[in-house]
Amino acid sequence: MPIKLDEIDLAMLESLAKDGRKSFRQISREIKVSAPTVKLHYERLLNIGLIKGVSLDLDLGKLETSASAKIGQIKHNVLKGHKLKFDRGLLVRIACDYCKGPVHDRPSILKVGNLERFFCCTSCKTLYNEKYHGRIESLSDR
Ligand SMILES: [Zn+2]
Repeated sequence: MPIKLDEIDLAMLESLAKDGRKSFRQISREIKVSAPTVKLHYERLLNIGLIKGVSLDLDLGKLETSASAKIGQIKHNVLKGHKLKFDRGLLVRIACDYCKGPVHDRPSILKVGNLERFFCCTSCKTLYNEKYHGRIESLSDR
């Protein structure tokens, strides 16, 4: 039996039709239902195969490469809806999870559950570990 699209489905699809890269939060503000509700409706339409794909949503401001012209080209392609082509050697700028400063060299990495936290130096990693020790332990237990 066909599934009937409700008001929320329709409003969400209309909103996504304008810009498929919107977040659930943006859609939720626009159509005035909560973000989890939007997500639920989105996933339902995905499950039944009406929404066929998910578009990639990148924060281009975090990308860097030795040739800044390449970033310009990528941004241009995204804006124009052209196909994206990534070059080798693209870097993603990250901030230290403890001091929020930039991570210049190879980051110190701490595994928290199945997530990774990145730090600019081993002392930030150690301080973070001490500060969130209890939480990290409970996450790793699962
Ligand atoms: Zn740091």
